[in-house]
Amino acid sequence: MRSLFLVLGLALLGVVAAAQAADSPQTGSSPKPKPLIAIIVGPTNHPPGTHEVAASGRLIAHCLQNMSNLPGVSAEVFYEWPKDDVLDKAAALVFTGDNFPGVTLNDSKSVLAKIDAMAKRGCGIVCIHYATGLRKQDVPPDGTHPLLAWTGGYFATKCDHHQSIARIYPAATITPGGGDHPVLRGWKEFSLRDEPYINNYFGKDGNKPAPNVTAIATSMLPPESPKKETVAWAVNRDDGGRGMGIVMPHFFANWKNEDLRKCILNGIVWAAKLEVPAEGVNTSLPDLVTFKPEALEPRPKATQPAAPKK
Ligand SMILES: [Zn+2]
Repeated sequence: MRSLFLVLGLALLGVVAAAQAADSPQTGSSPKPKPLIAIIVGPTNHPPGTHEVAASGRLIAHCLQNMSNLPGVSAEVFYEWPKDDVLDKAAALVFTGDNFPGVTLNDSKSVLAKIDAMAKRGCGIVCIHYATGLRKQDVPPDGTHPLLAWTGGYFATKCDHHQSIARIYPAATITPGGGDHPVLRGWKEFSLRDEPYINNYFGKDGNKPAPNVTAIATSMLPPESPKKETVAWAVNRDDGGRGMGIVMPHFFANWKNEDLRKCILNGIVWAAKLEVPAEGVNTSLPDLVTFKPEALEPRPKATQPAAPKK
């Protein structure tokens, strides 16, 4: 009799265990992996307080990890080209640096080949300020370069085919592009002292952006002979991926500008194929020193070598 109870008891346990196992797909399914945004910091030669490509990378990562209305995004900063296991799970690449890091990092040929493979699987590509740049030695005389397809345009640094213009304007007014592009959500026209590049390069057809490229922000520049200049742009690529270029900020302190920051973060999120919230991504910034820039405000490079560290 005792053994009958034992058998019944074990059978009951088995039923309970089976029921729990059947439950687990609904209650305990493994969470979706967080989309990874890889921020690649390229070399810079600019004075403290300007460009600040590493501190900007850390600031972008902080913002992406702390979006109050779009939680669950993971972002990581890389100061050299990451390994394939990281790149293969990235939903978007964000570049900071003087000129496009794809051409300035070591072994740029294999870096460009990897970006090409990532683009073909639909990875987002975003370039900030001078990371939109290509030099004469990076392009053939006609200016052909995959960066044009990846992001929709580039800053032509003293190239033969085209020369973009970099100049600091005391008060440039930046206007959202027309239409209902997701990157336009939640930010409005703003003015700032910065270096929005003009005469950016959009292609051989009279420098007109390709049909799959949208002007995200424009500015009437330069002040003495104003013309509508595109200073941020986005592309829906033929490979199914998305890209964006934005030619600000030059000054690190301009990350405090809520509208500029929202435009950039919207662009990154959109390029990673996430849904941009109706009010745009909401972020708040701690004190900018948190991100360890060389300086908060621009100052000249040290003219004397620093004393050796002990
Ligand atoms: Zn600059």
